[in-house]
Amino acid sequence: MPPVVSRPNSHEAFARAQALMPGGVNSPARAFGAVGGEPIFIDHAAGAYLYDVDGNQYIDYIGSWGPMILGHAYPPVVEALHHAVDRGTSYGAPTPGENELCELIVELVPSVEKVRLVNSGTEATMSAIRLARGITGRDRIVKFAGNYHGHVDSLLVAAGSAAATLAVPNSPGVTSGSSTDTLVLEYNDAAGLQAAFAEHGDTIAGVIFEPVCGNMGVVTPSQDFLDALQTLTKQNGALLICDEVMTGFRLSPGGAQQRLGIQPDITTLGKIVGGGLPVGAYGGSAEVMSNVLPEGKVFQAGTLSGNPLATAAGATTLRTLRDDPPYEKLEALSARLATGLEEAAAAAGVPTSLARVGSMLTLFFSGEPVTSWSSAAKCDTERFAKYFWGMMDRGVYLPCSQYEALFVSAAHTEADIDNTIAAAHEVLAAV
Ligand code: PMP
Repeated sequence: MPPVVSRPNSHEAFARAQALMPGGVNSPARAFGAVGGEPIFIDHAAGAYLYDVDGNQYIDYIGSWGPMILGHAYPPVVEALHHAVDRGTSYGAPTPGENELCELIVELVPSVEKVRLVNSGTEATMSAIRLARGITGRDRIVKFAGNYHGHVDSLLVAAGSAAATLAVPNSPGVTSGSSTDTLVLEYNDAAGLQAAFAEHGDTIAGVIFEPVCGNMGVVTPSQDFLDALQTLTKQNGALLICDEVMTGFRLSPGGAQQRLGIQPDITTLGKIVGGGLPVGAYGGSAEVMSNVLPEGKVFQAGTLSGNPLATAAGATTLRTLRDDPPYEKLEALSARLATGLEEAAAAAGVPTSLARVGSMLTLFFSGEPVTSWSSAAKCDTERFAKYFWGMMDRGVYLPCSQYEALFVSAAHTEADIDNTIAAAHEVLAAV
């Protein structure tokens, strides 16, 4: 089912873009490679909606791949940006705005006493593993297949998200040196983790993981896996790095670690922390963070880190999440959507399994529950592609891959959810 709605302005913009940027995009998932067809160019967004350059409106379930938990152009964020922009866009010197954002992070994220701001999730994870290696003097990092931690060389091994979707979980250009220092294990395999520590325990600097995985679609961690992560890292003197770039401030005010009761040594943040502007962060106890330059010796720096526009948008977003928490509403809307999609699939006789944690959700086109990359890989991605375009043509903008989470925002209404379910009934009956 290729798209039936024609989008001439998007088509023309994409033709131009392809001459200018590799694949016509600045991040690969946007090219819609996994679902066929051309990407849709966006003109503007407001609340729960995206508007394309051909004048079509979509209920948006990507939210810029996570950041827009309050909806697009959320008025207090827009106002904070207007106020900030008149005062200059970057100084390369400390600002009170950085204190404000860092205070909110420290207040909200249970394991973080001190934090360093960077410009993306990738920078956060890259810096976190350097810190783990710097503190322990060890080289090896453990990661899990299908978890995505950005495009850091040593973490771009068996990576999820667009890397897996576009069939380059191991990218050319990543040296064998950097990938030999990475041990890749199966997600949710506590015994595998135990075996890896038994064999390599004294060379493992840290274990990085998604506390709820969103990058092979939504996959929930089992309790014994979470227990093993915490116990084995502690016993072996390795640092536990909880990658909350996607889950931070989404699954609760304090992220997945608060929701699941995890105590990591280092937490990485991105997406929501910048309120839609480019921000990442990594933090931990004051002792762990004292190893970062200039307090300690582990180098990490950034010309635009703590940028005043970014901190204004981030702090306004986090303050709203703290003072007017949308989590109950998100839970109710997301549960309604999940139930409706499951009912639509059942009515159409399409084998699916639905995974949801809070406002992160994936409808897997596989009758079996997905617990790891090997089970995620069994999904019917061709059927997913038909579902994707059917939904797009009915004004519902979903992630363009089976192996991504969709996000519900506080701007969605029950009517949006019900319209989405109605569209899913039509589409699933036809795939
Ligand atoms: N970690 C996780 C868990 C992510 O989901 C992502 C991005 N989707 C990243 C890291 C990388 O973040 P960024 O794209 O901002 O570099």
